[in-house]
Amino acid sequence: MSSGSRSGTFCPQCGDPIERSPEADLPGGPNDPDAVLCDSCYFEKFDLVDAPDRIEMRVCSRCGALHRGKRWIDVGARDYTDVAIDETADRLSVHIEATDVEWGVEPEQIDQNTIRMHCLFTGRVRETNLSAEVTVPVYIAREVCDRCGRIAGDYYASIIQVRGTDRTPTAEENSRAIEIAESYIADREATGDRNAFITETKETADGVDMKISTNQMGQGIAKRIVTELGGSVSEAPTLVTEDGDGNEVYRVTFTARLPPFTPGDVIDLDDGDGPVLVTSAHGNLKGTRLKTGDRYEAAFEDGIAPDARKLGERDDAEETTLVTIEDEHAVQVLDPETFESKTIARPSYLDPDAESVSVLKHRNGLSILPKPEQADETR
Ligand SMILES: [Zn+2]
Ligand SMILES: [Zn+2]
Repeated sequence: MSSGSRSGTFCPQCGDPIERSPEADLPGGPNDPDAVLCDSCYFEKFDLVDAPDRIEMRVCSRCGALHRGKRWIDVGARDYTDVAIDETADRLSVHIEATDVEWGVEPEQIDQNTIRMHCLFTGRVRETNLSAEVTVPVYIAREVCDRCGRIAGDYYASIIQVRGTDRTPTAEENSRAIEIAESYIADREATGDRNAFITETKETADGVDMKISTNQMGQGIAKRIVTELGGSVSEAPTLVTEDGDGNEVYRVTFTARLPPFTPGDVIDLDDGDGPVLVTSAHGNLKGTRLKTGDRYEAAFEDGIAPDARKLGERDDAEETTLVTIEDEHAVQVLDPETFESKTIARPSYLDPDAESVSVLKHRNGLSILPKPEQADETR
């Protein structure tokens, strides 16, 4: 029997009287048509969790990017389980009336492309503890993202050429130039820029050629290469096509021209003061005179390319016996090839107590080289 004081409160579905006043206790308010139902009818229709039958995840089989919304994003994942859990969490919705909701998920790897997500939810509705178990299969569709598609299609907007001046770049310069480009692109990628990529890197007999996704990045990389390795950048645009709107599309070749001499080279400036060991090719060429140990610095107008020819490299030097000190300006050493005693110039960096010295044999004779730490090789 219903009490008179709560007259008129009946479940519209089953007609049973409702003990509680809907306005006072029931969540949902007037906008939820189910709010007026009795508990038993309410729970009959109630789903704690709304889950899709399946979730499909589109991932790039080349770079691992994930397609979300309308675009590809880098997730930096090779194992997609964590990404699949996030996707599942995004796609499941818990009933708005539930409070104290907690959930856990147990991923079950079915095969390489299928993960079954066993999810357990608990929550409270109408002062009743509820739980729900849902299993959602996540299918991983492996595709090729727009960026990888462009790389595979040999797309690029600029070319970087690393070249030497009257020489070919050294193996170290080539590999350093490639490292600089890769770290530049990696920095851009780290900011989420999916337009940053290197389409191709090729070492040729002349140096390195790299195809870069944009002109702006091609220029940035070329500048960074000469900032570190010395030299200068020149650019040459080539008209490749017209786009759909009739605009001309250019590709730009940026040539990073490395300086003629690099640290470690021994050069002859033909100025009567003997060979110079190059220590820096920044701004203008700097080095050490091998006759005296004096510092050499090219005139401002000569910059990094004074008139000179290369005699050899520090790496070609050999250890030989220091026979005797003749005077302030001369010592005797053994010629490392003929083992004859030779009188040669005595540079200030020579340690008179040393038993052996490092000498370079070149077309103008023998020169004593400073130890690496004495040469002040600043890059
Ligand atoms: Zn009812
Ligand atoms: Zn990709």
